[in-house]
Amino acid sequence: MSPSDYARFSPPQGQGHPGGRALDEVFVNPYTFVPLPAEAPQRAAPNGHRGDPALLSGKLTVSIEAVTPLLIRGFGDDDSPELPTRPDGTAFIPGSSWKGAIRSLHEAMTGSCLRVFDDEFVPSYRDPVEWSKGRRMAVVTVAPQGDRPPVLELCELGDMREDRLSAKQLDDINARHPLLSGTRFTKEDGVFQRDPSGEWVLFLSDTRDDSGPYFGHLRKCNGQPVEVRREVWDRFRELVAGADDQRPSEREAQDGPIKLVTVRRKNDNGTEEVCTVGYRHIAGAELRKHQPVWVTWDPKHGITDLGLAMAWRHPGEHSTGERVREFGPCTSDRELCPSCRLFGSADLSGKPDDPEAADRAMQRSYRGHVRFSDALADVAVKPEPYTLPPLGVPRPGAGQFYLHNDEFEGKTASGQQQPLREWGSEAAQEELRELRGRKYYWHTPTFNGREVARTHQRNSKMAAAAVAFPAGTKLTATITFTDIDRAQLGGLLAALLPGRAMQAGGLLQHVGGGRPLGFGSSRITLVEGEMWTNGSRYGGGSAQQPVDAEQLLAEFRDAQPEPLRKTLWPQLAEVLHPDSVDPEKVWYPPGKPWALRGSEKFDAGFAFWKHTSGYGEYPLTSLPHVDPRAEHDHELPLVVEENPQQKGSS
Ligand SMILES: [Zn+2]
Repeated sequence: MSPSDYARFSPPQGQGHPGGRALDEVFVNPYTFVPLPAEAPQRAAPNGHRGDPALLSGKLTVSIEAVTPLLIRGFGDDDSPELPTRPDGTAFIPGSSWKGAIRSLHEAMTGSCLRVFDDEFVPSYRDPVEWSKGRRMAVVTVAPQGDRPPVLELCELGDMREDRLSAKQLDDINARHPLLSGTRFTKEDGVFQRDPSGEWVLFLSDTRDDSGPYFGHLRKCNGQPVEVRREVWDRFRELVAGADDQRPSEREAQDGPIKLVTVRRKNDNGTEEVCTVGYRHIAGAELRKHQPVWVTWDPKHGITDLGLAMAWRHPGEHSTGERVREFGPCTSDRELCPSCRLFGSADLSGKPDDPEAADRAMQRSYRGHVRFSDALADVAVKPEPYTLPPLGVPRPGAGQFYLHNDEFEGKTASGQQQPLREWGSEAAQEELRELRGRKYYWHTPTFNGREVARTHQRNSKMAAAAVAFPAGTKLTATITFTDIDRAQLGGLLAALLPGRAMQAGGLLQHVGGGRPLGFGSSRITLVEGEMWTNGSRYGGGSAQQPVDAEQLLAEFRDAQPEPLRKTLWPQLAEVLHPDSVDPEKVWYPPGKPWALRGSEKFDAGFAFWKHTSGYGEYPLTSLPHVDPRAEHDHELPLVVEENPQQKGSS
């Protein structure tokens, strides 16, 4: 498929997804991407703040109308949330909150840098099941010391389905005597019994990332001591240095080398109970005597790999910074992109854990030229209560959505190759796949149920109370600007009024939180504006003049490079338009037909991610391109997991 074919790529519907079933049903992913422009950001020295007499200062008054309910969180407390409210009772949207929305659109329209961005991010992945064949448990008999690797005792290969204890069984044993990963058992007539001199070793893992039910696996020691070679040991230590348990925030919360594991378990009647399965070892290189680990071993080469879990993880390759060309955040206060020149370049959000980096960023930062006031509600607001579902964590590691796949589309990897969804699976290719671009949530003027917590989420206490500004709420705010030129003022107006700037009607903007759920679609209009040149103020005359938005927008438009206007703006207009997708179909990848909307299985997207991963029998399937000329409506086929007994019957 050539890139131009690919631009028109429309996902197949209701056809061959071997091992799973693509229904005749479709869904629309809540977010999409507008690609980065072909040209690098136009960086230049900023105006400075010296009151240059030729430059403009002034004030804009705007109206913000909530088209869908608008969510500002973090006010009141968890159980009784409130709208942000002034002492006089007026509800408001904090200036910083809507400034973020305007800036982000300005960045896109002007082809500026990606400001809020961690350029060192690399995702990591769970190994495909195929890779773990022949992986064995082993037990530490001599703990490592300094650089000296440990000595292990090998276990026999086990049966994944037989040699294990369920969360419920572990909970029962725990009630009598606490379990630790490495606790010994005997097995008689298929029944495991706790026995300090037994040959069977219990392994307890973390629950993180597990999609299925929890099991503690047991393996039988074979009494054979095995050495760990230096290079295997070094590789292991490098890998665990990046483990979650080694993050500063996690380390502070730990008070020892072991940690209690509890898991939620569904009873047959649908209620949940919490099971205590026992203590696991903290992930780290300080292995302890009797601790079980997992190894790849064969008689000829010995141990070739060492890990802390049965399902291993491996890092992807090439960070976000390497996948965005010159669009990483501006780093010099003399060379700023259009957005940083106008809004400022101070941004510490990317590296909250690194005070030194934050300090350096602060010293190089440039103060912006615009100030956003709080937006005050025009009339009294009656808060609208919601019980929200948990907001998902972004998973940029899902390359089928987050990367430009082009020639990878429809292909698969196999065997020991990395699944094509993974960052780094293109290693053999000449070019790295770029990040897909700037992320946008679709505007969905009507709700379809994804905005409220489902029963299964309420039961597991994953839901959160919130209050929203009701649809139709109008608020008024001001923006003051100093020392900017006409083109910059035009750009500011364009980000406020994208429809007028890009000559496309009916566009909306997102303000506040809950965008994946459909909250915060807003319409911004200019009420009035006044400006003056700094020089005119010195004369003492009345130099104030109204802001001629139409003229300034036209000047801004003419000043933008043609590829931005001709290629990128129509794509932006598409993602800002409320009619681009069918609001009824917007959902994170569902795992069941639409008739089961509201159920836990409908919300489980596992099958979709697997069936689009570009591994084994599953060809890589990407998010459709934002292409105003295409007619695919951004729909993807809904994929459900086949029941094992039905497998092969389709
Ligand atoms: Zn910048």
